[in-house]
Amino acid sequence: MRQICICLGCAGQYLPPESMTYPSLDLPASPVHCANPVCKTTVTASLRYIQVPEETVAKWARRAAGLDGPVRRPRPGRAARGRRAKASPGSGRTKLL
Ligand SMILES: [Zn+2]
Repeated sequence: MRQICICLGCAGQYLPPESMTYPSLDLPASPVHCANPVCKTTVTASLRYIQVPEETVAKWARRAAGLDGPVRRPRPGRAARGRRAKASPGSGRTKLL
Protein backbone atom coordinates (compact mmCIF):
# COMPACT_ATOMS: atom_id res chain seq x y z
CA MET A 1 0.00 0.00 0.00
CA ARG A 2 1.34 3.39 -0.99
CA GLN A 3 1.71 5.87 1.82
CA ILE A 4 1.63 9.61 1.63
CA CYS A 5 4.96 10.94 2.87
CA ILE A 6 5.99 14.24 4.41
CA CYS A 7 9.07 15.98 3.07
CA LEU A 8 11.23 17.09 5.98
CA GLY A 9 12.83 19.72 3.76
CA CYS A 10 9.79 21.63 2.50
CA ALA A 11 7.04 20.10 4.69
CA GLY A 12 5.11 19.14 1.56
CA GLN A 13 3.12 15.96 1.21
CA TYR A 14 4.08 13.67 -1.67
CA LEU A 15 3.26 10.19 -2.92
CA PRO A 16 6.39 8.26 -3.88
CA PRO A 17 6.01 5.54 -6.56
CA GLU A 18 5.54 1.95 -5.42
CA SER A 19 8.90 0.99 -6.88
CA MET A 20 10.50 3.76 -4.76
CA THR A 21 12.31 5.04 -7.86
CA TYR A 22 11.37 7.91 -10.14
CA PRO A 23 11.73 6.22 -13.54
CA SER A 24 11.79 9.43 -15.58
CA LEU A 25 14.47 10.95 -13.38
CA ASP A 26 16.27 7.65 -12.66
CA LEU A 27 16.40 8.67 -8.99
CA PRO A 28 15.62 6.60 -5.90
CA ALA A 29 12.60 7.85 -3.94
CA SER A 30 12.85 8.42 -0.21
CA PRO A 31 10.21 8.33 2.56
CA VAL A 32 11.67 11.48 4.15
CA HIS A 33 12.26 13.93 1.28
CA CYS A 34 10.67 14.80 -2.04
CA ALA A 35 12.47 14.81 -5.39
CA ASN A 36 13.72 18.39 -4.93
CA PRO A 37 17.55 18.26 -4.79
CA VAL A 38 17.63 21.00 -2.13
CA CYS A 39 15.34 18.95 0.13
CA LYS A 40 17.46 15.86 -0.45
CA THR A 41 20.65 17.68 0.58
CA THR A 42 19.06 19.26 3.64
CA VAL A 43 17.33 16.12 4.89
CA THR A 44 20.33 13.88 4.27
CA ALA A 45 22.52 16.20 6.35
CA SER A 46 19.90 16.37 9.11
CA LEU A 47 19.53 12.59 9.28
CA ARG A 48 23.30 12.16 9.38
CA TYR A 49 23.36 14.53 12.34
CA ILE A 50 20.54 12.99 14.39
CA GLN A 51 21.44 9.38 13.46
CA VAL A 52 17.87 8.05 13.45
CA PRO A 53 16.79 5.64 10.67
CA GLU A 54 14.80 7.11 7.74
CA GLU A 55 11.80 4.89 8.41
CA THR A 56 11.55 6.05 12.02
CA VAL A 57 11.78 9.73 11.10
CA ALA A 58 9.22 9.22 8.32
CA LYS A 59 6.85 7.66 10.87
CA TRP A 60 7.34 10.62 13.23
CA ALA A 61 6.63 13.08 10.42
CA ARG A 62 3.47 11.24 9.36
CA ARG A 63 2.27 11.16 12.96
CA ALA A 64 3.03 14.86 13.50
CA ALA A 65 1.17 15.77 10.31
CA GLY A 66 -1.89 13.82 11.42
CA LEU A 67 -1.70 11.23 8.62
CA ASP A 68 -1.63 8.33 11.12
CA GLY A 69 -4.71 9.39 13.06
CA PRO A 70 -5.25 12.39 15.28
CA VAL A 71 -2.21 14.28 16.52
CA ARG A 72 -1.45 13.44 20.13
CA ARG A 73 -0.89 16.38 22.41
CA PRO A 74 0.15 16.41 26.07
CA ARG A 75 -2.72 16.65 28.51
CA PRO A 76 -3.11 20.16 29.88
CA GLY A 77 -2.96 20.85 33.60
CA ARG A 78 -0.64 18.02 34.45
CA ALA A 79 2.80 18.85 35.82
CA ALA A 80 5.76 17.26 34.12
CA ARG A 81 7.61 14.62 36.08
CA GLY A 82 10.20 16.08 38.38
CA ARG A 83 8.57 19.47 38.70
CA ARG A 84 7.45 20.87 42.01
CA ALA A 85 3.70 20.84 42.57
CA LYS A 86 1.82 24.10 42.44
CA ALA A 87 1.52 25.88 45.80
CA SER A 88 -1.89 25.76 47.37
CA PRO A 89 -3.79 29.03 47.76
CA GLY A 90 -2.81 30.93 50.89
CA SER A 91 0.37 29.01 51.50
CA GLY A 92 2.73 31.59 50.05
CA ARG A 93 4.78 33.77 52.38
CA THR A 94 4.68 37.50 51.89
CA LYS A 95 6.92 40.29 53.09
CA LEU A 96 4.01 41.77 55.01
CA LEU A 97 3.77 39.00 57.59
ZN1 LIG B 1 10.71 18.81 -0.32
